[in-house]
Amino acid sequence: LSNQEQDSLAKKVTRLGLEFTKEENLSDWYSQVITKAELIEYYDVSGCYVLRPWSYSIWERIKAWFDAEIKKIGFENCYFPMFVSNAALEKEKSHIADFAPEVAWVTKSGTTELAEPIAIRPTSETVMYPSYAKWVQSHRDLPIKLNQWCNVVRWEFKHPQPFLRTREFLWQEGHSAHANYPDAEKEVYYILDLYASVYEDLLAIPVIKGKKTQKEKFAGGDYTTTVEAYVAASGRGIQAATSHHLGQNFSKMFDISFEDPETHEKHFAHQNSWGLTTRSIGIIVMVHGDNKGLVLPPKIASIQVIVITCGVTAQLKEEEKESLMTKCNQLVSTLKKADIRASADLRDNYSPGWKFNHWELKGVPIRIEIGPRDVQKNEMVAVRRDTGEKLTIKFDGATESISALLKTIQEGMFNKAKKELTDNMATCYNFDELCAELERKKIIAAPFCGEIACEDQIKKLSARDAVTEEGGPAMGAKGLCIPFQQPANIKETDKCIGPDCTNKPQFFTIFGRSY
Ligand code: AMP
Repeated sequence: LSNQEQDSLAKKVTRLGLEFTKEENLSDWYSQVITKAELIEYYDVSGCYVLRPWSYSIWERIKAWFDAEIKKIGFENCYFPMFVSNAALEKEKSHIADFAPEVAWVTKSGTTELAEPIAIRPTSETVMYPSYAKWVQSHRDLPIKLNQWCNVVRWEFKHPQPFLRTREFLWQEGHSAHANYPDAEKEVYYILDLYASVYEDLLAIPVIKGKKTQKEKFAGGDYTTTVEAYVAASGRGIQAATSHHLGQNFSKMFDISFEDPETHEKHFAHQNSWGLTTRSIGIIVMVHGDNKGLVLPPKIASIQVIVITCGVTAQLKEEEKESLMTKCNQLVSTLKKADIRASADLRDNYSPGWKFNHWELKGVPIRIEIGPRDVQKNEMVAVRRDTGEKLTIKFDGATESISALLKTIQEGMFNKAKKELTDNMATCYNFDELCAELERKKIIAAPFCGEIACEDQIKKLSARDAVTEEGGPAMGAKGLCIPFQQPANIKETDKCIGPDCTNKPQFFTIFGRSY
């Protein structure tokens, strides 16, 4: 059988392949990819999912990289409780006002009602800052730079989607307190750059850096900086990670203060908080996945190279079989020595075709096929998961060729996603144009006054009656961010994009449907 025939036979027998396409049925495609690639197992509490080793290992790689980076700038890890008292939670009014609808409460132990219900952290500002207040007595106690890797719970009303919007998710949350504003400000942008690196360098996903609009900023903070990614298949933006400058709002509420050494006046700490979640894994699936399944960027794939034997027929002599197996094992150990994450699938109860499908579904960047004839010729066939391209590689120098190929794949995946983003960005100067571009699945930069009421109008009037993937009416456009890199200067003649808005535009803002 040809490879292709083996492929289709394997699919039929095992129903291994995908039954939906990304273009025609994104939502079912997504569910199938995450289950068949063994990233997720469904669970009987809505909005909660099991992260299987294949997805958890991605999280571990993101974690290892980011953790090392924040330690370089003096952050330490710690752990605070997941429960928070009502009194602490309510301290910063606008913060709780925003989070209140999504807070889950413990109200009983066994059958006994608790005297005071206890909340489960939706984020940990109110959990951590009472301790910060105790720890800060003088300016010498600052800065405080703490991070925790933990779970949080937000009882979301919006349609839950594995990774992208879940009720419990894993994240890191960094929380700092500084003696002065410049130090805090520097950190906010530094962390945002790290987040951009996580996405662009590790995950091969381009992001747009910017500030959130007044309407979309973190509740209780001064301003929010964000990296926004774009999912071409749905035409929606997605908030990929956020770094907030909290100003002195929380430090005033929690009394994180010290005496200014010069003026002897009481001074409140300047604070930041920032978070990156397991949503990142969903963005990988959405951006890179294709109709054969997941496509993993080499840098975060726990198996980068899968070696599969071909042409092992009944006619093959025992010693030929042996030398083929030896060759595969040798290759794997040579690659491993060079820090390439390689593995051989030598199971004899599955056909090569089945294995091809299996590892394609799981998104392994390179498949190596080796048959008896390849052994004789001292070569192998490498197949790129991202493009399907086949290359013949010599055993001599295989480490270098494969290492270079992994690099090429990583770059190729980034460039492809970058092109998708650039091709789908539009600039608009009036509201009808904006709505038309939205329908073309674009995200749109437009002059904007920045007012909350105006953004409300834009969202309301850009929504339409058509039905979306989730079965609801198509949502309106949100302000995704005010990009640091403005597409142009605001001109005297420019008008705010808001329908009927008469305010002067302040800056270009990127609008789009979003997750
Ligand atoms: P926040 O502290 O609210 O800014 O949240 C930090 C980051 O968490 C956001 O930038 C999102 O990328 C991500 N996020 C928010 N809600 C969810 C959710 N329900 N599931 C997964 N990730 C989320």
